Amino acid sequence: MRAYRLLDWQQPGFSDVPDPDPAPGQVRVRVSGVGLCHSDVLFLEAAAGLLPYDVPFTLGHEIAGVVDGVGDDVAGLADGDAVAVACMSPCWTCKWCRRGADNYCVNTWRGRGFGADGGLTRYVVVDQREVVPLGGLDPAMAAPLTDAGATSYHAVQRVRPKLDAAAAVDAAVAVVIGVGGLGAYAVQWLKLQTAARVVAVEARPERVEAAQALGADEVLLAGDGLSRRMREAVGGDGADAVLDFVGTDQTINAALRNAAKLGAVAIVGQGFGSGQVRYGQPAHDCDVFNPQGAPLAELREVIALAQTGRVTIEVEQFAFDDVVTAYERLRTGSLNGRAVVIPDAGTAGS
Ligand code: NAD
Ligand code: ZN
Repeated sequence: MRAYRLLDWQQPGFSDVPDPDPAPGQVRVRVSGVGLCHSDVLFLEAAAGLLPYDVPFTLGHEIAGVVDGVGDDVAGLADGDAVAVACMSPCWTCKWCRRGADNYCVNTWRGRGFGADGGLTRYVVVDQREVVPLGGLDPAMAAPLTDAGATSYHAVQRVRPKLDAAAAVDAAVAVVIGVGGLGAYAVQWLKLQTAARVVAVEARPERVEAAQALGADEVLLAGDGLSRRMREAVGGDGADAVLDFVGTDQTINAALRNAAKLGAVAIVGQGFGSGQVRYGQPAHDCDVFNPQGAPLAELREVIALAQTGRVTIEVEQFAFDDVVTAYERLRTGSLNGRAVVIPDAGTAGS
C-alpha cells in the first residue's frame, strides 16, 4: 500500500509499505479519513535530533475508518464497523494509565503518526482497546474528533469547574485564542457544556464569521493591543478561563494578564512562546496548565457528543494524492476547517 511518510528528517514523501495484518487483540482499520493537525507541521519541519522519534514513519494521527480484518481474541468488533482510532497506544499499567491519564502514559511520547506508523495510507493495525465505535457517524468526517476534538475537550474539562463556580454567582467568561482545528471545537464544547460567554480571538478575518457560527459570542482580531482589547471584551474582572491554541509570546502574555482571580489559563498551542509570571500575574489563585492530548475516556465522550448531532465538524476534504497541497494549505493558514485526506480518493492502494 502507498503511504505518505517522513522518510527522513525534513524529507516527507510517498513510499510503498507492506499491508499490515492484525495480531491477536488487534483490528485492521481501512482508513476513511485522516485529519491533518498543526503539530504535523512541526514534525515535517523538525531537523534531525530535535524530536525523540526514529524515522521513517507514516504521518497522520487523526484517523477514522472501517474495521477490515479482526485478529484473534478480539471481542465486540467486526468487519464493517466504523471506528475512530485513538492517537496513542497506552500501556494501561503505568501509574499515569492507572490514574486514567493515559494521555500521559510512559509509552505515549510517540503515537500513530509521530514516531509510529500513522494513517496516511490504506490500513492501520490498532489494539482493540484503542478504537471507539462511531455508530452512524461518517468515518471520513469523524477523523478530526480524535485529536482536534479530544484535545480541546480535555482542556475544556479542566476549566469547567472554574466556569461553573463563576457562573453560579455571576456571569462566566471564557476566551479561546485561535479558532482553527482545535479552537473550533473548544468554542463548541464551552457553549455545549458551560454557561460561559465565549470571546474568540483569531488572526484571520475570514475565520471571524466561522467562529460566530460555531457559537462565539464575540470575536476579536489578533494584533496590536490584543491584551487591552481582550480586557475590554471580558470585563474588568478578567476571564474565568483562557484557552490559548496559539502559544506565542503575545497570546500567552495576553492570557496571563487577562485571566481572572480563581481562573485558569491553558497553553495548548505549540507556538513555543513564553509569558511573564510574577507575584500578581496571573491574578491570585489562577491556575496555568499545559495539557497534551486527551485520555481515551474523553475521546469516547467526544464521540458520544458528536453522535447527538450537536457538534459541527468543519472539514475540507483532499484526495490522497493531494496531501502535499493539504499540508501546504495548513502551513500557510488558508484552510477553513480541518484538512481531511481521503485515502479512497487517490492511489493509496486497494
Ligand atoms: P490550526 O492551524 O488549525 O489553527 C490555528 C488557528 O489559530 C488558525 O485559525 C489561525 O488563523 C489562528 N492563529 C494563528 N496565529 C494567531 C494569533 N496570533 N492569534 C489568534 N489566532 C491565531 O492549528 P491546530 O491544528 O488547531 O493546532 C493549534 C495549536 O495546537 C498548534 O500549535 C498545534 O501544534 C497545537 N496542538 C497541541 C496539542 C496538544 O496536545 N497540546 C495537540 C494538537 C495540536
Ligand atoms: Zn501507561
